[in-house]
Amino acid sequence: MKSVGFVGWRGMVGSVLISSMEEHQDFKGIHSTFFTTSQAGQKAPKNSNAELLIDAHNIDELSHMDIIVSCQGGDYTKAVHPKLRANGWKGFWIDAASTLRMESDSVIILDPVNRKVIDQALDSGVKDYIGGNCTVSLMMMSLGGLFENDAIEWLTSMTYQAASGGGARHMKELLTQMQVIGNKFTSMDENIARDIIAVDKVVTDTYRDGSLDSSCFGAPLAGSLIPWVDSAVDAGQTREEWKGISETNKILGRDASNLIPIDGTCVRIGTMRCHSQAFTIKLKRDIPMNEIEAMIGSHNDWVKVVPNTVEASRAELTPAAVSGTSQIPIGRLRKMNLGSEYLNAFTCGDQLHWGAAEPVRRMLNILVKENA
Ligand code: NAP
Repeated sequence: MKSVGFVGWRGMVGSVLISSMEEHQDFKGIHSTFFTTSQAGQKAPKNSNAELLIDAHNIDELSHMDIIVSCQGGDYTKAVHPKLRANGWKGFWIDAASTLRMESDSVIILDPVNRKVIDQALDSGVKDYIGGNCTVSLMMMSLGGLFENDAIEWLTSMTYQAASGGGARHMKELLTQMQVIGNKFTSMDENIARDIIAVDKVVTDTYRDGSLDSSCFGAPLAGSLIPWVDSAVDAGQTREEWKGISETNKILGRDASNLIPIDGTCVRIGTMRCHSQAFTIKLKRDIPMNEIEAMIGSHNDWVKVVPNTVEASRAELTPAAVSGTSQIPIGRLRKMNLGSEYLNAFTCGDQLHWGAAEPVRRMLNILVKENA
């Protein structure tokens, strides 16, 4: 039985991973040890075979694992992974953080899209398997049929990303901002409450008077948006936007010779969970809509083509409908005024599920069940 160490299991991604593993009864086939950066020596959770939590910086303890699954974050990976490898550890490292994604000896995992790339890597002895950026993974799950049929010349992705993309603390900050604004409204004089301009002024003043805690996001998010996700990179892009082109092509096993150009603007919005994306896709040829829908809808078990109607879009294509599910709905599909080779599409997916935890869970199963 493989020894599997879990780090970052109580964060947003880790919690979704653990509950999905419980649902699929994945703990039955492994010997699990739980690590922590903050609670060493405390009682381990129910799925642990060890009684107590172990210090996640203890390289000797980590070295006993056949597989380490980390959902802890990039700083942890940076601090621990090189030390483990330098210590001679030859185990498999599966990670939700971005740190190792673009390394030449790592593979970005999204098996419904790139199982061949993963299998080739296993055959050639690759040991680091890294989950992709959440918007990239959700885009590829939704447009997998078009990528597989080599139908895309280029695409833009304009994103609408949830607060939980930043982790547990960011979600709490959004909720606190909502509460502060909401509380002002409930205590407001009844006469003012009837005057929507006065109500709006109270909300706007609250954004500007510094009373909202914005330490995670850097600006108020409740009832607002922030057109910047992650740090700046070259040419005016953010890192989140840069990942669109770099990670997508790495996942597909493409290089400079056959790169698919991808770009867009990534925007943080005041939703709790789910990242949505609007695509403009330049097709390589004029493909009829029924063929496009068939390609997209048949690619994997989770993608679903949503009819381009107001009823279906409201019922199936929103964070409210998709949060906490594994579904990848894609709708608003239509040819654009730009020409018959230009396709419009909109998708919404739970970034904690297919955008983070599920590729990690499935990679663990590939290692445990198929490479025993
Ligand atoms: P997170 O929720 O901030 O959790 C990370 C760690 O923070 C936890 O494992 C825990 O470590 C510690 N922590 C401190 N206070 C906590 C609290 N009140 N509740 C829970 N945990 C607390 O981070 P995350 O969003 O899961 O992200 C983990 C990694 O996955 C990051 O590299 C991120 O970039 C990547 N990722 C995230 C998403 C997403 O949508 N959030 C999507 C794709 C990839 P200890 O138990 O050791 O203290």
